[in-house]
Amino acid sequence: MISLDEARQHVLDRVAPAVPVAAALEQAAGLVLGVDVVAEETVPPFDNTAMDGFAVVASDTDGAPVVLEVMGTVAAGSAADSGIASGQAMRIMTGAPMPRGADAVVMVERTSYDEDEGTVEVEISVPPGNHVRGAGEDVRPGDLLFAAGTLLSAGHLGVLASVGVARVDAHPRPTVGVLSTGDELVDDGRPLLPGEIRDSNRLALLTLLAESGFDAVDLGLVRDDEAAIEEVFLDGAGRCDAVLSSGGVSMGAFDYVKVVLDRIGDMRWIQIAIKPAKPFAFGLIGDTPVFGLPGNPVSSMVSYELFARPALRKIAGMSTLHHLTRLAICADSLGRHDDGKTHFLRVEGGPDESGRWHIRKLGGQGSHQLTAMARATALAIVPDGVEAAAGDEVEIIPLSTLAQ
Ligand code: AMP
Ligand code: MG
Repeated sequence: MISLDEARQHVLDRVAPAVPVAAALEQAAGLVLGVDVVAEETVPPFDNTAMDGFAVVASDTDGAPVVLEVMGTVAAGSAADSGIASGQAMRIMTGAPMPRGADAVVMVERTSYDEDEGTVEVEISVPPGNHVRGAGEDVRPGDLLFAAGTLLSAGHLGVLASVGVARVDAHPRPTVGVLSTGDELVDDGRPLLPGEIRDSNRLALLTLLAESGFDAVDLGLVRDDEAAIEEVFLDGAGRCDAVLSSGGVSMGAFDYVKVVLDRIGDMRWIQIAIKPAKPFAFGLIGDTPVFGLPGNPVSSMVSYELFARPALRKIAGMSTLHHLTRLAICADSLGRHDDGKTHFLRVEGGPDESGRWHIRKLGGQGSHQLTAMARATALAIVPDGVEAAAGDEVEIIPLSTLAQ
């Protein structure tokens, strides 16, 4: 058995960020920039008003109240036909460019407009620059907007749109194929024959991939048959950036996955000092990473979180690879026996009003008991030799669920 850290490092050492390619801005949410982005435009592009009101010469308002001659109206999206001089004002709407000669805006609430007379009474004195948004206050040409490695989210994409960037060089989102193996598995809803069970891993793994922001591809269910297994792995490695299989990585007599992958790939078969998810295989078919996840349903999901997700995040160009852990208080004992392994217990609970997590061990901790995994809001990490009693703090991995 090797340690969790050694197994993780082994996997991470053998994958690299995908080469950046141009992506349309509309498709770039969740991608990681492959290069620095430098602004070529100015934002705002021109001096404009932050308020509806009247553009004025600030010094004219020194003796407020004052009456000024209104020279016209300028709306957002147009430019004033003329400028203004001392003694004059221009009606102006939020976002409209400042007329030539004006250096301040008086908000409409502090004015009285006499449309018939073509005048406005300004009630207050304002300083130069009042309510004026200067050109380039947000972005100037040559500014480094976002550095390579930035994970693009709503604000970033808004800024890029504001400077007219239509495409960015980003690490492509990995496409990940998922297959299940085993003669006992049924996936078409028919009544089960003796010895059969339904395939649950494939849908769970496809969903984990989608929740992690990767493109998941269903490669189907494969019999315990060498030729069929070889065909689906070669197909998956050919059209995906990574392949996840579940089942066939332990010591069973019909584990043809091992036979096939040793022939067509460069694999390492590992026993890791963790529970669940002790058996694991990782390697390459050609350049394509292959993750041989254990067959037991809880194990396959935990193995995904601990090994596959971090590696796929590295391929996607991300810098934070592992789940962020936090500390939680045990509502009651997490009792475990010593077996030389770190246990990942399925626990329920969550943060209290002050943000402090409180957790309780769920019933049904077997690696075949998927319901506890489904109900778990976190995995508690309990190292060998640790006796976590009620009130003790333990490290947890909060699990992302759509509800949280
Ligand atoms: P294996 O590693 O193939 O020996 O599988 C270990 C255990 O996981 C066995 O009880 C399998 O029946 C079960 N198993 C394997 N694949 C799946 C799957 N796709 N869905 C549900 N259970 C599975
Ligand atoms: Mg099997």
